[in-house]
Amino acid sequence: MAGYALKETEYRYRAYTKDGKWETGELTTDKYLHIHEGSNVFHYGQGLFEGLKAYKTKKGTVQLFRPDLNLIRLNEGLDRIVAPRIPEALFFEAVEAVVKANIDDIPEYGSQKSLYIRPFVIGHGMNLGVKPSEEYIFSVFCAPVGTYFAGGLQALNFVTTDYDRAAANGMGKVKVAGNYGASLYPRQQALDAGYSGVIYLDPSTHTKIDEVGAANFFGVTYDNVLVTPKSSSILPSITRRSILWIAEHMLGMKTEERECFIDNVSEFKEAGACGTAAIITPIKSITHKGKVTTFGDGEVGETVRKLYDILLGIYYGEIEAPEGWVLEVK
Ligand SMILES: *Cc1c(COP(=O)(O)O)cnc(C)c1O
Repeated sequence: MAGYALKETEYRYRAYTKDGKWETGELTTDKYLHIHEGSNVFHYGQGLFEGLKAYKTKKGTVQLFRPDLNLIRLNEGLDRIVAPRIPEALFFEAVEAVVKANIDDIPEYGSQKSLYIRPFVIGHGMNLGVKPSEEYIFSVFCAPVGTYFAGGLQALNFVTTDYDRAAANGMGKVKVAGNYGASLYPRQQALDAGYSGVIYLDPSTHTKIDEVGAANFFGVTYDNVLVTPKSSSILPSITRRSILWIAEHMLGMKTEERECFIDNVSEFKEAGACGTAAIITPIKSITHKGKVTTFGDGEVGETVRKLYDILLGIYYGEIEAPEGWVLEVK
């Protein structure tokens, strides 16, 4: 099994459109899609995905973290690629059915692992012109996962790239397939140079931090303000939104969404990457044009550790979640 997934699971959910309208789907054990070679998703990238996780809690229940926000983001993305929105009932039926059908593959409480759930929508059918597809598939599959970056809560080294992951007014805000194709080459360059991943700068001026690979960036200033970048080309992370709330309401910190200039990155005593897959990954250093900035003493900082502990506490039901943040799958 390559990469992030620990194993494949047995069941997935598929729904199809008929005459452009979503029909109810069903669980299947078939891992393969048999679709036309002229499908838009292969040639013009009309495909979009989401990522969320199910956790086995301390009490022995199974819960999802803020799945309502994944649905909102998915539908905003579908508008952007001119594909039909997924009805709320279909989304929850699919996600919950997949979790329940693969329940034995959700890692046990205490393992620090979880079940990663991957909903996606693709346009298919013979379509040689550059125009939206006539028919679509919505599918949800899952796999148990550990940590995305190696080694749990361990501070890692990142490097900036001259490449952009998305255009300023392009599709950076949505989880459209092509953005990740665009990221493979700069990622490979960073790995080859011995870094754990790449830092993207804003595509218009290349002076401000945008993202950390497929995760959002955050920093903690010397006067204890949690800062995340404000930019039109960033994927709006649900994890980032959650840690901003945790910092403000549970840690009593000030928070700011504003520009984070790469030349002033030493304003942060701590830095990190956040996302469903990355969870919270502490950043040890950022290298930009040969200059290395190390955060704090290069160890995992106090705020990063607190945010990590609270977030995992909520994921695994050890800490009471803020209203509406978790959905129990029964
Ligand atoms: C998915 C993703 C994130 C993280 O978003 P979450 O909602 O926290 O999982 C951050 N950046 C990019 C580019 C992503 O694709």
